[in-house]
Amino acid sequence: MNESILRFCLACQRYSLDVSCPSCGASTRSPHPARFSPQDRWGKYRRALMAEARAAPGGA
Ligand SMILES: [Zn+2]
Repeated sequence: MNESILRFCLACQRYSLDVSCPSCGASTRSPHPARFSPQDRWGKYRRALMAEARAAPGGA
């Protein structure tokens, strides 16, 4: 949704604004792919850990 419109052709190592490379026709992709899954598998545990740390006496 808030994804950059700038795309990148892996074959040509070139940037493009199109979903397909204007020079080789290969499908382009975002130059900075999402590092984390939107599912956030460990988010539950991370939040639990943070809540625990916040509740711990003497913490922060
Ligand atoms: Zn290309």
